[in-house]
Amino acid sequence: MTGNGKIGNRAFIGLGSNMGDRMAYLETALREITAQPGIRLVKASSYYESEPVGYRDQDWFINRVVEVETTLAPLELLRVLQGIENRLGRKRLIRWGPRVIDLDLLLYGDLVLTGEELTVPHERMYERNFVLIPLNEIAPEYRHPDGRTTAEHLQAYLATAPPEKIRLWTG
Ligand code: AMP
Repeated sequence: MTGNGKIGNRAFIGLGSNMGDRMAYLETALREITAQPGIRLVKASSYYESEPVGYRDQDWFINRVVEVETTLAPLELLRVLQGIENRLGRKRLIRWGPRVIDLDLLLYGDLVLTGEELTVPHERMYERNFVLIPLNEIAPEYRHPDGRTTAEHLQAYLATAPPEKIRLWTG
């Protein structure tokens, strides 16, 4: 821990669930993320309910985005997220299909990485309203590696893409 209380790098994680008790999966996943040494929760967005993208014959998702501070390296953080997905029983049966929990590493500081195992910023995040809208709620002024803010990315997305439906989840 440094003098200003900062413990590491700023990272954003996207959480989604569309099977079973979606809220319970999201809450358990976040509890497990923040129980991990080297990860501290900074901010969490509201919950949003979003229409499935890609494979449409499935239930709506509940999504949120959280900001963390972490001393873990990017791949270590990814493996923590994958470990939680596996423990919560996620089965990869259909690409973009139903899942009890989906954890995506969206952004990790200024890092730009295109690797076999990890791509940051997350490959599809700028085409997903269920990422951009919750991210814009908690970090509109955050500057992405390409120099644009979240608010600018959201504006660009809304101007060009046919947005899938999304609404604030009120329970
Ligand atoms: P998905 O089925 O959408 O959760 O994708 C999982 C796969 O994407 C895994 O093989 C990961 O190694 C890979 N992947 C690449 N970049 C990322 C990222 N930024 N966050 C999460 N998974 C990623």
